[in-house]
Amino acid sequence: MLSFYKYTKVEHIKTTRDYLYDTFLNLGVLGRIYIASEGINAQISIPKKNYAKFQKVMLNKDPFKNIDFNITEDGAQTQSFVKLIVRIKDKIVADGIEDSTFNVKNTGDYINAKEINKAIEDDNTVVVDVRNAYESEIGRFKNAHTMKVDTFRQQIKKLCSDLSPYKNKKVVLYCTGGIRCEKASAWLRHNGFLNVKHIKQGIIGYIREVKEKGLPNKFIGKNFVFDDRRAESVTDDILSNCHICKNTKCDDYTDCKNQFCDTMFICCSSCAIRKKGFCSYRCLFFSKLPKNIKKMLVKNTYKKKDALAYKRKALTQ
Ligand SMILES: [Zn+2]
Ligand SMILES: [Zn+2]
Repeated sequence: MLSFYKYTKVEHIKTTRDYLYDTFLNLGVLGRIYIASEGINAQISIPKKNYAKFQKVMLNKDPFKNIDFNITEDGAQTQSFVKLIVRIKDKIVADGIEDSTFNVKNTGDYINAKEINKAIEDDNTVVVDVRNAYESEIGRFKNAHTMKVDTFRQQIKKLCSDLSPYKNKKVVLYCTGGIRCEKASAWLRHNGFLNVKHIKQGIIGYIREVKEKGLPNKFIGKNFVFDDRRAESVTDDILSNCHICKNTKCDDYTDCKNQFCDTMFICCSSCAIRKKGFCSYRCLFFSKLPKNIKKMLVKNTYKKKDALAYKRKALTQ
C-alpha cells in the first residue's frame, strides 16, 4: 500500500486522467487517485510484482516526475481498497481559497524528526496540528496546538487568526502525510508568517524516521489514517474518552449502525452494548421504525442533518 502526492501544474487534465486510469488498471492498482490542476493525490495498493513497472510509469512521466512515494504497508496481505477510482477534482485538497495570487508551491522548509523533537520542547516554537479534530483527538504530538475543525477548509479560514500570536515565532506544521501541512505552510507564508516549517511526509514520515534513526518518539496515541484500518497505534497512550459516556478512556472509532446517520464516533465497549452500535437513542429508535416511516423521516431530517462533527471524511472532501 502506498500514498503519494505532488503539487504541480497539471495541464490536459482529462488526458492525464485517462492515461493514469488505463495504465493503473493494467497494473492491478486499486485505490483512489485525485487529480486537479494543482496536482495529484493518491492512496493505492499495488501488487508487488508490478511495483517496478508502476514506478517507471510515475517517475518518468511529466508532470509527476520524481514523486516521493510513501509506502505505508509493504507486502501486507490486507486488501484495503476494492476498486480503482481516478477522479478529476477542483483541488487535490479542498481549501476554500479563492485568492488567485496564492502560490501553493511557495512552502516553508522541511524540518526533520530531530528538529521537531527539539521544537516541541522550545517555548518560542509552536507546533501546529493541521488535521481535523477527530484526528488529533486520538493522537498528536506532545504540546501540539490543535484546532476544533472538521475540514481543512475550516482550518484554512481560522489558521492565520488562530496563530497570530505566533507570527514572529517559529511555526511548525504537521499532518498525516504532508499534503495538508504543505499547503497550510504556503498559506501562512502568503499571509506574512516568516518562519514556517513542516514535516516531510507528515506523521507517517516522522514515525519512520524516529524508528530508523533510533530517536525518541514524541507522537503519542494513534495516527488516524484514511483507509479501513482507520488508525495506527503509535504508543499505548489513550488520549480521548468515549463520546457516549464521556468518562471511559477510549480511542476506537465506530460508525453508527444507522446508515442514514453514519456518524463516526468513539465508543467504549459497554456503551456499544448499551446502544447496540448506534450513536444515540435517536438512531436506535429510528432503526426500529417501519420502512415507509423511515423513508419519510430521512427526507425530512437526516438529509438536513449537519451534526457531522465526527463523520468520517475523505481527505479532500
Ligand atoms: Zn462509553
Ligand atoms: Zn447515529
